[in-house]
Amino acid sequence: MSDPLRLVAILAHPDDESLGVGGTLARYAAEGVETYVITATRGQSGRYRGVRQGEGADHPGAEALARIREEELRAAAATLGVRDLTLLDYVDGQLDKADPVVVSGLIAGHLRRIRPQVAMTFPPDGSYGHPDHIAICQFATAACVAAADRNAAFLRDGPFADHEPHAVSKLYYMATPAGPWAAYQEAFKKLVSVVDGVEREAVVWPDWAVTTVIDTRAHSDTVWKAVTCHDSQIAGYEGLRHLSPQAHEDLWARQHFYRAFSTVNGGRRRETDLFEGLRP
Ligand SMILES: [Zn+2]
Repeated sequence: MSDPLRLVAILAHPDDESLGVGGTLARYAAEGVETYVITATRGQSGRYRGVRQGEGADHPGAEALARIREEELRAAAATLGVRDLTLLDYVDGQLDKADPVVVSGLIAGHLRRIRPQVAMTFPPDGSYGHPDHIAICQFATAACVAAADRNAAFLRDGPFADHEPHAVSKLYYMATPAGPWAAYQEAFKKLVSVVDGVEREAVVWPDWAVTTVIDTRAHSDTVWKAVTCHDSQIAGYEGLRHLSPQAHEDLWARQHFYRAFSTVNGGRRRETDLFEGLRP
């Protein structure tokens, strides 16, 4: 029997798995692919139902929020059919201050344990400039390289160091063209991060740069169910609770990716399956 297909999502926060790649996780799990999620933080720096930390008595504080968000993440992952969830427990909002050698080594160890053919993560621009998203893209990319390298010195002391090296065959970055971005803006108002006093806005991908489109329409209800598991977050977004049918369609019916590397296929033709080139 051939090796089962395995897909891993390497992400920064609880809710990235549902809002970012929920449709893809749900579709592949429903098809019998083993799906895995690695989340770097427990989201303790976020708002609680729209209230920022320190701005109101309704915010339960960082540690309590981390516990709430971990529970929400576990419920969402179960809804999406995720087989195994790994929390790395870095600090939300400070992922880019973590030692890249240590984090990449840790993720590489998990890649050797999970042995996925396909990995997916945020794009280099972090979708809208979020420093944690940018950091996890860099760590995940470095981890894919390190996991395959028998001589990667920094892996020797980490977990799963005794596991055999593993080469991920395909790495994907989320890519968001104009249609879904309009829907995101409808749901979340303006997605903007202020970093060191500079506003970073959503980065829209040109349609031609999208290498892969996954049809997730049949799983839209599952994704919405997973999104609503994150009550501490979505309660603050009035727009998300009153989305138009078109916005629901744009958000959950299709997911777009950029194929960062592949050792099994290539070319200009647009893919409709992350496992193209890998199926017998
Ligand atoms: Zn995030």
